[in-house]
Parts: sequence; C-alpha cells; structure tokens
Amino acid sequence: MIERKLIGPFKQLLTMNNLPVNGPLNDNEIEVFEKAGILTEGGCIAEVGLFDTLAEEAKKNNCSIEEINSCTVAMPGFIDPHTHICWAGNRANDYSMRLEGKTYPDIAKSGGGIISTVEKTRNANADELAFLTADRAKRMLNDGVTTIEVKSGYGLTGSEEIKILQAIKKAGNFVQADLIPTCLAAHIKPYDFEGSNSAYLNFIVNDLLPEIYEKGLANRVDIYCDEMAFKPKEALDFLMKAKDMGFELTIHADQFTIGGSEVAAKVGAVSADHLEVSGIREIKLLAAGSVVPVALPASSVGLGTKFAPARKLLNAGASLAIGSDWNPGTAPMGDLLICAAILGVFEKLTNAETLAAITFRAAAALDLKDRGIIKKGNIADFIAFELNDYREILYNQGKIKPNIVWKNGIPVK
Ligand SMILES: [Zn+2]
Repeated sequence: MIERKLIGPFKQLLTMNNLPVNGPLNDNEIEVFEKAGILTEGGCIAEVGLFDTLAEEAKKNNCSIEEINSCTVAMPGFIDPHTHICWAGNRANDYSMRLEGKTYPDIAKSGGGIISTVEKTRNANADELAFLTADRAKRMLNDGVTTIEVKSGYGLTGSEEIKILQAIKKAGNFVQADLIPTCLAAHIKPYDFEGSNSAYLNFIVNDLLPEIYEKGLANRVDIYCDEMAFKPKEALDFLMKAKDMGFELTIHADQFTIGGSEVAAKVGAVSADHLEVSGIREIKLLAAGSVVPVALPASSVGLGTKFAPARKLLNAGASLAIGSDWNPGTAPMGDLLICAAILGVFEKLTNAETLAAITFRAAAALDLKDRGIIKKGNIADFIAFELNDYREILYNQGKIKPNIVWKNGIPVK
C-alpha cells in the first residue's frame, strides 16, 4: 500500500504556485498558507491545506502524521540549475593569485586554471569522483537544495567525459538529492587535442554524444560560448547537431563576450547561463523567446566582476533562475542561498523574484515539470526554516539554513 503521511503544521507555507515563469514578481503575489499542512503519498504531494482539517481526515483514515515545530516556514526545496561539482583537486592557489591581481593568463602559465583541474580529474577514478561529487551534493542537500544539475567538462576526452558522467550517475546513489547530468565536453578545446575547435566539436558530435545517448548518461548538452572558448558560429552548429540527436540544450553565454545568448535564442535552448555582459539587445532576445536566463552570482563574487542584469531581464519580461555555478576555479562558494541573496540585494530583486529563481523558475531552466512548486501531483520536495516570516530567509542573507529538508516526502535532514 502507498504510504500517506501528513506533515505540519507550518506557521507559513509558501507554495510558489500560480506564479508566471516570466517577468517581475511582487511579494504580495506569493501564495502563503498559514497553519498549513502537506499530505504526501508515495513521495508525492497529495494535498495542501489547513493542517487541522487535514489532521482530522488523517486520523479517520489512519494515516501517519509527522508533527513539527509550528514556528516554521516551509517552501519548495531549492533547485540549483547550474553546477560543476564533479571535479578533483582545488584551486586555492589560483584564487590567491587573483587576489594579488594576477590575470588569467598569468595563472594558467604558472600551472593553474582549468587545465590543472582537468589533470587532477583525469587522475581520479570514477569511484573517487563519485565520492567527491556526492560529498558536495550532500552539503547542498543539507542547505535545502533537493535537485542539483551537474556538468561534466573536466575530462575533455571521450573516455574521460564518459567516466565523469558515470561518476555523476554513481554519486546519485549516495545522496538523496536528484542529480541532473549535463554533458559539457565542449567546455574548452583541450590542450592535448590536435586539431581545430570545429574538429574537436565534430569529435564530440560524432563519437561522444552517440555513446552518451545510448548509455543514457545525460539528456542535456552544454557548450561554453566565449571568445576564449568556442565562437558563436561554432556553438550554433554544435548545438543544432546535438538538438537533432534529441538532446536538450543549454549554453554558457555572454560571460566575458556577447554572442551566446543569441545562439541560445536561435537554437531554442532551455536556458542561457551567465549573461554578465548581456546588453539591451541580448536582453530583448532572451525576453522574446522561451530561453530561461540563469544568473550565476557566485561566479561574479569569485572573480570580482559585475552581476548579470537580472533586474533588466525581468523588467523586459524574461524569466530568471539563479545557479551556484559551484566549481573549483571561478565559483568556489557553493552556496545557492547566499549567492541568490547577494544578487537580490545588488540587482534589487524582490523576495518573490529571488525565491522563484531558485525554485520553480530553476525547474523551468532544467525543463523539469514536477517540482519547484508545492502543489498536488508534484514530488514532495520541500524545506522548513525555523523562522516566523518567510521574508527572514533572505533577510538573513543565506546564513540561516533550513532545519528540515524533505526529499520525496522523507526527512533527510
Ligand atoms: Zn558554469
């Protein structure tokens, strides 16, 4: 028999239901239930309502009740739509050099940069990588992140990229959070690949993606589109081919040079991520289509550069999700709530906009339709903070973490 369980009462329950995926949001648009309960059934949400009413029903039907401290604020589990948490080693030395004012080429020349992570990741076996990835994912789950996108991209050969995607899959067995894998073999042309950028991209399309598809290791493909990685034209051709093979698309766009967001709009990518240098033209392009812009404020904090124009994107009618971009080089923070709170204060985002960006709008950035909103039929991923008012979540700037995290209706913290 499928287990039914009532959880509550919550002082406030933010469902994030009935809100648009695009455009600005005001706090008074958020649906807030007082003294609420959530009835779960087989890992999904069966009903949301007044706790006392649901409890009466529950007692009649012999359904179990998980009573919690009534001074809590509940909301959907956080969703991180952009991470690179499958890596080995660390880049503390790069970070120190950046603090001393050294440039990226200086750092790369001294043996740092992405290549140092690629080498350490290649030297680790799949089990070690799975362990490291699961460890980071556990930390995120503990912070309330119940769904985590994870990119490959530190292998950069066929077998190494497969190893990384297998490690991500394996890590999923060690942590209750859902890990959503993305192939980012097109992170950068590896230093040891003999041939042009397009030859490398052709190799990915012809040799690697068919194997990934066949083995079911990822259904999303990403490319780093920038002057120093892959040019817009190269990214466009590559993504079109990946799309024809049945992959969903995402792109690292407009981080240092523009061009990527236009590619995202042309190929119908699910999301375009970074956008630090997006201008009016790029903002209009993103607002006109269905691409979800993903801001990565921890990368701006890591590099000391400006933030994506989140306010302008929303005002133009675009959506906005926020990802942690957790990676060893540019975004070592790895804390979605803190970086979202920071972006909110600099870009003047309302509570509603920032919380939407790490719940249902982040789900849209991953094309996941069963989460990010507490409503009947969705999976029962939600979190509770020991706070009296939901606005205290961002007021505390990410310092206060949820004290209970439910994944598929089961408390995992
Ligand atoms: Zn990234």
